[in-house]
Amino acid sequence: MTSSIKPILPGAAIGVLGSGQLGRMFAIAARQMGYRVHTFSPETDTPTGQVSDVEIAASYSDLDAVRKFAQGVAAVTFEFENVPAVCVEAAAAFVPVRPGGGVLHITQNRLREKTFLSSNGFPTTVFAPVRSQADLAPALAKTGLPAILKTASSGYDGKGQAKVVSLEEASRAFADCGSQEMIAEGFVDFELEFSVVLARGLDGSFAHWGTIENRHKHHILDLSTAPARMAAGASARAIEVARALAQKLDLVGVLCIEFFLTRSGEILVNELAPRPHNSGHLTIDAARTSQFEQQLRAVCGLPLGSTEFVAAAAMANLLGDLWHAGEPDWAAACALPDVKLHLYGKVEPRPGRKMGHLTALAASPELAAQTVLLARQKLSTRA
Ligand code: AMP
Repeated sequence: MTSSIKPILPGAAIGVLGSGQLGRMFAIAARQMGYRVHTFSPETDTPTGQVSDVEIAASYSDLDAVRKFAQGVAAVTFEFENVPAVCVEAAAAFVPVRPGGGVLHITQNRLREKTFLSSNGFPTTVFAPVRSQADLAPALAKTGLPAILKTASSGYDGKGQAKVVSLEEASRAFADCGSQEMIAEGFVDFELEFSVVLARGLDGSFAHWGTIENRHKHHILDLSTAPARMAAGASARAIEVARALAQKLDLVGVLCIEFFLTRSGEILVNELAPRPHNSGHLTIDAARTSQFEQQLRAVCGLPLGSTEFVAAAAMANLLGDLWHAGEPDWAAACALPDVKLHLYGKVEPRPGRKMGHLTALAASPELAAQTVLLARQKLSTRA
């Protein structure tokens, strides 16, 4: 019952496991609302640590350090889902960890995730487990060719993934990944990719930002546009999947569901992330409540905020590649009045590394996408 929930109020300290840009944007939202933020990761001078009250540098397997960290905060959340289960359990012995360890367990492994989805009637790509060379032929018989082979755990942004068109190629891909547990998925010739970012409160309340259209380049998100340009019926079905999934997971926090829209108008869940997501970054500038503020509200047991958009929006990622000819021309992008610059405080601009993003607001999603791409182009075309 809502009335029995005692919220964690401003002034309290919230702990974040992980220290990347998602933790940074969470910490900024939390500090704006008067919370203190402690971050825990193996590194120092991190994107999250730079804007936190306390930055702890220790290994996730140093359970004494994790326990000490948890004792200094009122609740713990995380900004990446590959935190070891023992670390989450150690923290949960002292304070609530939200989302809970059960959600992490499911989403840390693609096979567990897809099995959970399909066994609960959620639409997904056809898939089969691959744990040995002998599994490959029956797996491909199920998925058909081409297929995508993905490592079951620890893969992101296309790492540990291969598209295969024959059993021989699949066999090579499996060996190349060290013969670790993999999932074979049917290749989806999709019309578009989109996501639903949702939040669920401690009282079971549900909020979402509609459907967001996503374009990837080399498996890394490149451009997100909201609202997604897709049929209203498909959008509505995706929101219903989101609502039911959040409930089934008994989620408290933010979750992103990545979907494919097939050419026949079917929606398929590709992947879950139990935290704010790159495709939801545009909510900072375009929605009344951002995904990060919503994560804070959910984790603290506060009522969720309005997710209404103030304008259509588009977000373009800024990868380290942009620095190839020197520091990008920030002033040129800032000269566009509807464009916002977000940088994550990372010192080393490696190719493929997410260094920041731009968001543009406009009267339509098309215009927002055009504007943000123009702004990004201006960063590297110094006169
Ligand atoms: P993932 O790590 O699963 O999010 O995959 C990264 C990207 O690879 C996705 O956003 C898609 O563009 C592509 N991809 C992943 N799985 C499939 C699939 N089964 N069929 C077609 N493309 C896929």
